[in-house]
Amino acid sequence: MTTHTIVLASRNKKKTQEVSEILEPYGFRVIPVTEFPHVSEVDEDGQTFAENAARKASQVARELGQWVIGEDSGLMVDALKGAPGIYSARYSGPDATDESNNAKLQTELSGIPQDRRGAGYVCSVALSNPQGEIRIAVEGTCRGRILTEASGSGGFGYDPYFLIPEYHRTFGDLSSVVKHRISHRAKAFARFAPMLLKIAAEFGTR
Ligand code: IMP
Repeated sequence: MTTHTIVLASRNKKKTQEVSEILEPYGFRVIPVTEFPHVSEVDEDGQTFAENAARKASQVARELGQWVIGEDSGLMVDALKGAPGIYSARYSGPDATDESNNAKLQTELSGIPQDRRGAGYVCSVALSNPQGEIRIAVEGTCRGRILTEASGSGGFGYDPYFLIPEYHRTFGDLSSVVKHRISHRAKAFARFAPMLLKIAAEFGTR
């Protein structure tokens, strides 16, 4: 199988690893934007996951003159009217960590019973051509419930608290093999990959 290389406009190591593992079977080798230290930080000031994914892809693509994937994702909690949403990475402030974000989430949800702790992960993916034009835009979602206690150490972010009811396990408990079949990111990239393959065959991705 031909291997294409493609740049991912993300500085999040765990996310980059997930995207690499998901795209590898399709014949793509993912290069994180951190391998290009001169590329500027992208302002995530869009109002939706899709806008932020498109901004990341097109800004980095224009700077590098290459095809680039942008990905923006987050957690939307029903009882918090969709928060933290596009602010998921910095929910607890500018110096947020996964731990501080989860602590804030638990505080916001304190007293809310299990049956009203429904939530969904969302993942938007965009592909930009070297001129900064968006050529693919797709989204994937995954429903679950926010537990009061963490379980498991797999995944990242809110995963140890995110229960997948069908499996009676959190994304922290489930193996990456299972997460890569059912997650918001897996679903978005399952739509994205065949379209990317078509474009890669026509134009080459690097
Ligand atoms: P982004 O890098 O701006 O797209 O922010 C993504 C943030 O959403 C992460 O820092 C996590 O807090 C959260 N998030 C997105 N996807 C996942 C996931 O698969 N597991 C856990 N948290 C996630």
